[in-house]
Amino acid sequence: MDELGVGTARAEPGARGKGKLKIGVLPDGAPLEIPVIIVRGAKPGPTLWLQGCIHGNEQCGTFLIHRFLQSLDPAQLAGAVVALPVLNLTAFQFNRRTSPFEIYQGGDLNRVFPGNPGGTFTEQMAHAIFTELSRVATHMVDFHTAHLKETRWALFTNLEGEVGKKAETMARAWGYVATFPAPRTKLTTAAYMQAAIQKGIPGLIVECGGKGPAFDDEAVADGAERLRNVARSIGLIDGPVTRHNGVHFVSDFAWVRSRRGGLFRNSVMPGDRIAKGDEIGRIYDIFGALREKVRAPHGGIVLTISPGPTLVSGDTLIHIGLEPRPA
Ligand SMILES: [Zn+2]
Repeated sequence: MDELGVGTARAEPGARGKGKLKIGVLPDGAPLEIPVIIVRGAKPGPTLWLQGCIHGNEQCGTFLIHRFLQSLDPAQLAGAVVALPVLNLTAFQFNRRTSPFEIYQGGDLNRVFPGNPGGTFTEQMAHAIFTELSRVATHMVDFHTAHLKETRWALFTNLEGEVGKKAETMARAWGYVATFPAPRTKLTTAAYMQAAIQKGIPGLIVECGGKGPAFDDEAVADGAERLRNVARSIGLIDGPVTRHNGVHFVSDFAWVRSRRGGLFRNSVMPGDRIAKGDEIGRIYDIFGALREKVRAPHGGIVLTISPGPTLVSGDTLIHIGLEPRPA
């Protein structure tokens, strides 16, 4: 059987491999190379592509991917896992969302897929990564975090037909209570998941934990087990698929931004159910006076909320999943 390779990472059937994929060039002329880990099953099957730190300060997903990979026995796999635990390496090195080399362009790596070989630093990275995804992957999962360590929600692309069905199956196997079947036009069509599904590759975005150190071992262990369930649902690992109780699909989501600046204390948490008009937090001014009891403009399920304590006008106060219904 052939080798499976991405960049310099190679794996024979029934073996592991690791290496680097070149996605750019640094100021000193050195290649910008990101880590690639392959776990190849003894038998053929699907290829599950995993990626963390598309935003460089969202390392919970990196730990989750490592934990999952350590749990695998190549002899028991049918197919392969190709994992890129740190996608935006220069952002990761500075614990930032975007690369420090992106001064003028914004440079959100999750807004420029499928990328452009003649584009910006970040667009060229996206092109190099997406070329490999398109070549080898049959399924994908993209890991993110939000503000708070309690964040747990997931999205998949809601499409008619076979590929949409596959994405929904993966989302149910992941099984978070708050799950969003996102229309292809939602977020941006340039988000990784949306670009992948246009290539016929179903996938998920998982939002687990908070940025930087705001996550705990429970989130990592629980996520790795859910990922094993996704792997069972696509036939990569043998065994019965766990059916998670309590999965709800939301109809849409709403970002609520602050009109004030000041000091904010949240009074609800990710996963809480809220009704329209419920108090979600309080904004104080710099002199200590209470300026606003912030009310939820919509009911739903809290996906994430600002932990404060500082706030500028335009900051996201809360992200609400609307109209959750049992899925
Ligand atoms: Zn992110």
